[in-house]
Amino acid sequence: MQIIDGKKTASEIRLALKEKVSSAVMKYKKPIGLAVILVGDDAPSKIYTANKAKACNEIGIQSFLYRLEDGIPQEEILALIDRLNRDDAVNGILVQLPLPKRYDESNILKSIDVNKDVDGYSAYQIGRLNLGKPELVSCTPLGVLTLLDTYQIPIEGKEAVVVGRSNVVGKPVAQLLLSRNATVTICHSRTQNLAEHTRRADILIVAAGRAKMITGDMVKRGVVVIDVGINRDEHGLCGDVDFDSVAPKASYITPVPGGVGPMTIAMLMTNTLKAYELQNGR
Ligand code: NAD
Repeated sequence: MQIIDGKKTASEIRLALKEKVSSAVMKYKKPIGLAVILVGDDAPSKIYTANKAKACNEIGIQSFLYRLEDGIPQEEILALIDRLNRDDAVNGILVQLPLPKRYDESNILKSIDVNKDVDGYSAYQIGRLNLGKPELVSCTPLGVLTLLDTYQIPIEGKEAVVVGRSNVVGKPVAQLLLSRNATVTICHSRTQNLAEHTRRADILIVAAGRAKMITGDMVKRGVVVIDVGINRDEHGLCGDVDFDSVAPKASYITPVPGGVGPMTIAMLMTNTLKAYELQNGR
C-alpha cells in the first residue's frame, strides 16, 4: 500500500508554478492578479483566504483581498465584482464561500466574468467540462485528478466509483474521470446497496461528508482510494474513509489531513495562471 502524499505533491506543484508564473509575466509583460472577496467574519474562511493570499505571494501572483462587513448591501458586492471584472490587473476572482445567509450566493457567483472564474463554479465553465472542453475546472476535483496523474495511476477503462454528487466535488470529479475514459458510477445519499457499487471500484473517490463511512468490507483488494471528506470527530480531523480498515486492502490511499486538502490551493494558483494565459492569448 502506498500513501498518496498531497502535501508533498502540492508543494512541488507550487514550486514549479513559481517558475511558470515568472516566465508568463516576462512573456506578457504584466503581473498576474487574483482578487479574493471575503464577506463577514467566519473564522475558517478568514484562515482560508489568508492561506490563498500567502500562496499567491509565494509564487509571484499579486493578491487583492477585499474584506467586506457582513451586512454590506448585496448591490455593493455586485458593484465590486463588476469593477474587478473590468480591471485588467485582476485575472481571477474568487468569492469565499459560504457567504452569510442573507446574501443570494448564486446571484453573486453568477456576476463573476466566466473568464475570471478560477473556482470553475459558473454554468459556462461547468458546461465546458461536460462538453469535454475543460478550461477552468473546480479546484478540488482538479486536485483529485492531479493526484492520480502524479502517482501515474491508470484511469482509462477502469471502474471508477464516486460517492457524492455535489456540484463542487462529486459531479465534476465524475466528469473528469469520464473524460479520461473511466467507466464511472456516481453514488449518492439515495443509492441503494452502496457497498455493492464501492466493491466494484478500481478507483474510489469519496466526497460525502460522512466521517469514516467507507469501511474495509466495502472495498476490493488493490483499490485506489481518494478521500475528499473533511470531518471532525472526537480525535480531530478525519475523512469519509475509515483509513485503518481500508488502507490494508488499498494499493494507494490518501490520508486526511494531508491528502486532497493541500491540493486545492495549488490548483487555485494553477487556474489563476491559466486564466491569465487565456486572457492574454485571446
Ligand atoms: P455536499 O454535502 O454538498 O455533498 C455531499 C454528497 O454526498 C451529496 O451528493 C450526498 O448525496 C452524498 N452523500 C451524503 N451521505 C451519503 C451516504 N450516506 N451515502 C452516499 N452518498 C452520500 O458536500 P461537498 O461539498 O461535496 O463535500 C463533500 C466532503 O468533501 C465534505 O466533507 C467536505 O468538507 C469535503 N471537501 C473537501 C475539500 C478539500 O479541499 N479537501 C473541498 C470541498 C469539500
